[in-house]
Amino acid sequence: MMSLPARIDELTRYSTAVLSKSGSPSPAIDAAVLLCHVLEKPRSYLLTWPEKTLTESQLDSFAELLARRQNGEPIAYILGQREFWSLPLQVSSATLIPRPDTECLVIVALEKARQVTGPILDLGTGTGAIALALASELPDIKVTGVDIQPAACEVAKANAERLGITNVSFSQGNWFEGVEKGTKFALIVSNPPYIDADDPHLQCGDVRFEPRSALVAEEQGLADIRTIAAAARQYLQPQGWLLFEHGYEQAESVRGLLQSLGYQSVHTEQDDSGHDRVTVGCFLP
Ligand code: GLN
Repeated sequence: MMSLPARIDELTRYSTAVLSKSGSPSPAIDAAVLLCHVLEKPRSYLLTWPEKTLTESQLDSFAELLARRQNGEPIAYILGQREFWSLPLQVSSATLIPRPDTECLVIVALEKARQVTGPILDLGTGTGAIALALASELPDIKVTGVDIQPAACEVAKANAERLGITNVSFSQGNWFEGVEKGTKFALIVSNPPYIDADDPHLQCGDVRFEPRSALVAEEQGLADIRTIAAAARQYLQPQGWLLFEHGYEQAESVRGLLQSLGYQSVHTEQDDSGHDRVTVGCFLP
C-alpha cells in the first residue's frame, strides 16, 4: 500500500480525495472525523495544527479506518458510536444506526406523554435510542425496550448503564413476547422494519451494512406494523397511544390500518425534512 502523508493537512487532503473516489457522500467530513478519532482530538485541532505529523502507529490505525470507510462501511460502525437526541450511543453492526429522522418519533411521544401517564414500551429498540431519549426526558416514567436480537439488547443495556439512565429496562423477545402479560402501557412506540425487500435504496450507502432484519418487512414493508398494531390493543391502557415511525410514502396505509383496527384520533406528523414520518392512534376500548 502507498505510504500515507504524515502531516495533518496533507493527510486530510489525501484521504478526502480517496473517500470521494470511493463514492462517500461526505468525504471531507468522513476524513476529518476518522482523523480526530485516531488523534483523540476535537475537530478544531486539525485547523489549528495543520503541520503536525501523526506517529507511525497513529498512521497505521488511520490507514485501517480509511480502508474500512473506502469499502463503504458506515462511519457510525467504524467509530462504534452515534449521537441521538444529544445522547452519545454505542452502536454495533447488530443494530440499526439511529437516524435524525427518528427524533420526530421522540418529539411526538413526549407530546402524547403529557396527555396520559403510565409506562412506555419501545418495540424493536436496537441501540435503545428511542427508549433512552424518552427515559432521559421523563425520569419518573418507567420505559421498557424490547428487541428480538440478544446482541441489540446488550448494546441497549450498555448504553443505559454508561449514560446513567436508570428508569429504563431492556428485554429480549419477538415484539410483545418480550413483555410481561397483563402489563398496560400509556404509550407504545416503534420504529419497526418498514422497507420493502425490492426497494433499490437497500443497495446504496450505509444501509447495505445494517441488519436486514431491522430494515425489511413483508407486505410492502407493512407486515410488522400490522402485527404490532393488532396486538398492541391488549397492551395499551385506555386513552393510551400507539406511535409508529414509517416510510414517507406509507402514511395513508398506516392510517387506514390503525382506523380499521379501531384506533381513534389517527393522524400523521412530519419530520424536519417535511416527510410524513410518524402516525399515531389512540386506544379507546
Ligand atoms: N429510515 C430508515 C431508512 O430509510 C429505515 C428504518 C427502518 O426500517 N425502521 O434507511
